[in-house]
Amino acid sequence: MSPLTELAELSRQFEAEAAEVADPAAWEELRIRWLGRKQGIVRARLAAFKEVPPEERRDYGQAVNRLKEQVESGLADLESRLTTAAVPVVEAVDVTLPGRRPMIGSIHPVSRVAADVVEIFDGLGYSVAEGPEIETDYYNFEALNFPPDHPARDTQDTFFLRDERLLRTHTSPVQIRTMKERRPPIRILCLGKTFRHDNDLRHSPMFHQVEGLAVAEGITFGHLKGTLYAFLKRLFGPETEVRLRPSFFPFTEPSAEVDVTCTFCHGDGCQTCSQTGWMEILGAGMVDPRVLEGCGIDPDRYSGFAFGMGLDRVAMNRYGIPNIRVLFDNDERLLRQVKR
Ligand SMILES: [Zn+2]
Repeated sequence: MSPLTELAELSRQFEAEAAEVADPAAWEELRIRWLGRKQGIVRARLAAFKEVPPEERRDYGQAVNRLKEQVESGLADLESRLTTAAVPVVEAVDVTLPGRRPMIGSIHPVSRVAADVVEIFDGLGYSVAEGPEIETDYYNFEALNFPPDHPARDTQDTFFLRDERLLRTHTSPVQIRTMKERRPPIRILCLGKTFRHDNDLRHSPMFHQVEGLAVAEGITFGHLKGTLYAFLKRLFGPETEVRLRPSFFPFTEPSAEVDVTCTFCHGDGCQTCSQTGWMEILGAGMVDPRVLEGCGIDPDRYSGFAFGMGLDRVAMNRYGIPNIRVLFDNDERLLRQVKR
């Protein structure tokens, strides 16, 4: 048999042997038999090069290299086929396991409080007004009777943006926008995100406010009290007591801080209410005549009241949440607890 015929025969023989390999041990045997460093068939054929007559060496060299490549790629193919097949077949479905319960969504505590507030004021004839979260100094401060350099501005740590814009520190700008666009009688509720540079257990840089505004002829402080009593007793329960304390806000005169009996101890005094039995819940007052005038409403003919409340604070009190950040952590366990 000529050396070239012999190589052709070896090529066929490798294919026949490879076809018989069915497990990793047989593969390893085949690899050593053909590519082994000492006794391997391919190596022996390479070493036999010197015995080939000079005129055949070129063809012989090429044929040996083709055989070597054939054996190497054949072994690689075989190996990948064997490893894929070696992965144990796992039963795709374990029918003995209990089924997975679909996650059911629930309303966020802040959204729930907001919806309750809207519902109560809807019954009192109020409509919801909206405004931008990025505001100008005019709508956020100046029109609300905070003159430039007025110390009251320091109480609202503001996030200032470029071009004299800022993130609204309260929802009050919506009141100004509404009074400039509409004529009395006005009864609106503004709800939304507000922003202040403040971050601790009870404060978050982003928080939610609701404000109410009523402007008409003959509105008095008595109307404000009546509205707040009706609202707070609906929100916290009929046994809730309400008290007003004198206060100061630039945009109302007179102004009051409004407290309700502590929802935790019902007035007996506890840690949450610092043993007072009361919780400060909102700020309110009669709209300052200067604010009305600035919006083109005649303060000699019309008067109005306004109030503002933090929705997050109410949600914390109602659901016993000690840290405001829990509200914004996106931990669905909160939603599951609140749902109950
Ligand atoms: Zn208490």
